[in-house]
Amino acid sequence: MAFETLMGDEAIALGAVHAGLGGAFAYPGTPSTEIMETLQDLAERQAAGKLAGVASAFAAQWCANEKTAYESALGASFAGKRAMVSMKHVGLNVAADPFVNSALVKVNGGLVVVVADDPGMHSSQDEQDSRWLADFARVPCLEPADQQEAYDMTLEAFELSERFELPVMIRITTRLAHSRSVVETRAAKAQGRIHKPESGMDWVLMPAVARRRWHELLGKMAEIKKLSNASPRNPLKEGGKKLGVITAGLARQYYLENLDDLSAARGQAPEHLHVGFYPIPEDRIRELYAACDQILVIEDGYPLIERLLRGIVAPGKRIMGKESGEIPYEGELNPDTVRAALGLPERKGLSVKELVPPGRPPQLCQGCPHADSYGALKEALKDYPLHAVTSDIGCYTLGALPPYNAIETTVDMGASIGMARGAATVGLEPVVAVIGDSTFYHSGLTNLIDAVSHQTNMTVVILDNSTTGMTGAQPTILPSSRLEGVLRGAGVDPAHIRVLRAHRNEHAGNVAVFKDELAYQGPSVIVMVRECLEALKKARKA
Ligand code: SF4
Repeated sequence: MAFETLMGDEAIALGAVHAGLGGAFAYPGTPSTEIMETLQDLAERQAAGKLAGVASAFAAQWCANEKTAYESALGASFAGKRAMVSMKHVGLNVAADPFVNSALVKVNGGLVVVVADDPGMHSSQDEQDSRWLADFARVPCLEPADQQEAYDMTLEAFELSERFELPVMIRITTRLAHSRSVVETRAAKAQGRIHKPESGMDWVLMPAVARRRWHELLGKMAEIKKLSNASPRNPLKEGGKKLGVITAGLARQYYLENLDDLSAARGQAPEHLHVGFYPIPEDRIRELYAACDQILVIEDGYPLIERLLRGIVAPGKRIMGKESGEIPYEGELNPDTVRAALGLPERKGLSVKELVPPGRPPQLCQGCPHADSYGALKEALKDYPLHAVTSDIGCYTLGALPPYNAIETTVDMGASIGMARGAATVGLEPVVAVIGDSTFYHSGLTNLIDAVSHQTNMTVVILDNSTTGMTGAQPTILPSSRLEGVLRGAGVDPAHIRVLRAHRNEHAGNVAVFKDELAYQGPSVIVMVRECLEALKKARKA
């Protein structure tokens, strides 16, 4: 037993290693990136014999995208090893196919999927709530309220996964992922041996097998719900009956911060149910509802519990939360929003509102190669009053803002090329898709194959800075030297694969090449190469 001060992401990584992890897989995405970074650091320490109590090596790998990461974890589980896959919430959309289907296979080694949601969209394009996807896939979900629970629940998640032969989700949010507290750790368990599933047919989801597995999954839900109703992760604490409070995950901390004042104002603490294990504990919810005059649900993300609650209790009593407007529907919760929902007056001198730092508009680093690429692109496009520039997710998204004003769309990973293709197909000309090298491998390549197949008249600009810059300079899945070969292999005419240096000294020559390729009637690719400055700094420090 030891004590360490850990971020939520670090606590999950260490918990997985102490659970006897065999392999972990991920694609970078804020706020989940540090899970894999920590695992890679721990793997290095293990290899050097400096990780106490962890005798066996484990894999910790970045993957091309969240779907490939999920499938790698699934394969490690098939081989009998404990496996983990981690991603941000929108990454689960990319991995939704294997995620939903993996609930139907008979998980062998424990399979844990960690999804980091981003209420408030600190670094995301939406604030979707992954608990809904766990519910949709009929997958149990654990939601830690602090870093200790993040560590403990990771160990529990592997046990649960093997007990029910199902994947288990751990859902965290940005605030928990990136804040620290002291965590008491345990002795590491030994890794399991390689062993294949007893019946291979449980992994062959042809319709006859899938129907049987679906039936078995629905059958398991009764036992899992029973466990949820009895789980110490879903404690029901008796209290005043005028108000019943339900909290979920980190929202418990915001509630507890206000509890002394609330108890003083009401004469006693309200009855309180905390939910850390899903599916929701329906019996305990009914018990709370029956005992209390009205219910307040405090949860970060979408109103999952609030909605499900309305479906399991008879109407009549007031249920407050996001749907009814007492808790803000948008953005991240904080102690003050929860305080207001509890009917308490604003705290003097401690209001979160007053702690908001001055705005710092995001911008590209001084000297970023993307700025030089945008300079060349914009000059080449001056000859075309009607044109479109679609783009993607990465530092280069900032090209939408002044002084660049160079791109017009950012929707999801890889959409730049797909959208450019669609626009070009219906007659818009010229159309340019701007995408980073990491995003290209993540989800752009298949769209490019569509463009080659249909000889779509468009130009793809790959900003190749040899890194995933926006999430802190993780390595791109393949080095720059391999990109041209990948483009040729995808069928792009070698005469229209142009590799340029993204530097202002090359500006005139780069503009000329852009003009040539904009005039070309067919799919062309311009690769703008120069290393990200942050990646260079990181490499120098290493
Ligand atoms: S981190 Fe790298 S890619 Fe991102 S803005 Fe800075 S230099 Fe450019």
